[in-house]
Amino acid sequence: MARTPRPLIAGNWKMNGSKADGLALAKGVADGVKQAGWTDREVLICPPATLIMAVAEAVRGSGVLVGGEDCHAKPSGAHTGDVSAEMLRDAGASHVIVGHSERRTDHGETDAMVRAKAEAAWRAGLMPIVCIGETLAEREAGRTLGVLETQLKGSVPAGATAAKLVVAYEPVWAIGTGKTPTTPEVAAAHAHIRKVLGGLVADAPAVRLLYGGSVKGSNAAELLAAGDVDGALVGGASLKAEEFLAIAKAA
Ligand code: PEP
Repeated sequence: MARTPRPLIAGNWKMNGSKADGLALAKGVADGVKQAGWTDREVLICPPATLIMAVAEAVRGSGVLVGGEDCHAKPSGAHTGDVSAEMLRDAGASHVIVGHSERRTDHGETDAMVRAKAEAAWRAGLMPIVCIGETLAEREAGRTLGVLETQLKGSVPAGATAAKLVVAYEPVWAIGTGKTPTTPEVAAAHAHIRKVLGGLVADAPAVRLLYGGSVKGSNAAELLAAGDVDGALVGGASLKAEEFLAIAKAA
């Protein structure tokens, strides 16, 4: 099974941005992507739910994809404050991040909940980006690969294929800290993730595996060159168009 030739560079804006900020950022990214004319990589931005519709409109025709940062597992109903995958799709999203460590920590999301959200994404016609990653304590206890395996087996729904799944490896201790694993550590984690995916997905070699955690313009080339890395999930550095585009360029 051939590996995918198209890396994905995804920006997670988190809970940041007014409409004016978001539109300026989206326009900056869209202009850069249009100018670069890339056909060999995909660029995705995931704004807060309040901005998805406006951002999708602003980037239309540029090739930039738009995603949500989370979704509820149900399509509709009495879930005050939540947003369904169908709503994201309706607003112009094509992707949705599920199981980000900030959701797992802030909202107590379990692997089973993440799996249900990934299934909801499929139901709505969205591509789920399933996030997994170890904490510093787990890494220091030598449990990294075991934790990744457990999260993967619990979070990836049955019936997943490379056309329906992106996985993001995000060490919790590397998110927003400026710290990153070494390139061999990233490669080892990704190799293990791909091996575990081999038991879950028929075409595991083609599943896109993103690395996330303090990726910036200056370290992107090195991190993206690690074995089994097919792109990046970018937090802080996705809030500046120039920095985000530098990461996309490095892909
Ligand atoms: C993230 O939150 O997904 C992330 C990778 O954040 P940062 O790039 O800021 O570490």
